[in-house]
Amino acid sequence: MPEKYIRYFSRLGRLRPRGHAKKGTRKNSRVIIQTALECKFEIVIHMKRLTLTFDNGPTPGITEHVLDILAARRIPATFFIVGERLAKPGGRALAARARLEGHWIANHSMTHSVPLGENPDAEYARREIEETQNSIGELAHADKLFRPMGGGGSIGPHLLSRAALRLLQEGRYTCLLWSSVPGDWRDRDGWVDRCLAEVGERDWTVVVLHDVENAALPRLPEFLDRLGSLGIEFRQDFPDDVVITRRGEVVSALASQIVT
Ligand SMILES: [Zn+2]
Repeated sequence: MPEKYIRYFSRLGRLRPRGHAKKGTRKNSRVIIQTALECKFEIVIHMKRLTLTFDNGPTPGITEHVLDILAARRIPATFFIVGERLAKPGGRALAARARLEGHWIANHSMTHSVPLGENPDAEYARREIEETQNSIGELAHADKLFRPMGGGGSIGPHLLSRAALRLLQEGRYTCLLWSSVPGDWRDRDGWVDRCLAEVGERDWTVVVLHDVENAALPRLPEFLDRLGSLGIEFRQDFPDDVVITRRGEVVSALASQIVT
């Protein structure tokens, strides 16, 4: 058992019998408490984690409903937004609302058109990454979170050019990938079960959904409630296995595989 849990449970074990046990029942109380602690430990070691992310918005008519659904369940997420969508009417207000409600606002390129790895031009990388970051401005997470687009979830050299990686390093960006892309935009019925199966296979899954038309929204409440009933822990931070650069420092061996 990890040291911090031993400390936590042994503290409970000392406090509870003193406060609650009546004269003559101390021994039994200990037994009951011990059983309860073992149950708690079972929950701790089996609990899976999930970080929820929404890409390609903000989308008026969609993103506000996603925010309502998350607020009702107090689930924090990260919104990887597209710069051109932020500039459209209603876009910035949605991003501002998401930020105000505790979500993280991140960079998902300016045009979401040609993957960075398919255009080696440094000026293209600058416009897609840096101009988007500038337009997000004060709404952005302090670690300058960036996720490359392209490939419907496949991980490969199309994701970044050399110029793009250099810019991410020099600009001290945190570049984040994913571990589950269940395809909410191409299979609006099947993505929920596919994603739940993937979540079951990993200790900590980073899920990519989309706050755009014809994607995750209709089944999002059901998805989140099923995760909740499975005891999944919702996290807002990211596990190491999806982090390519952290504040500009390359921290993953994957970096060489996602650069053309
Ligand atoms: Zn995308």
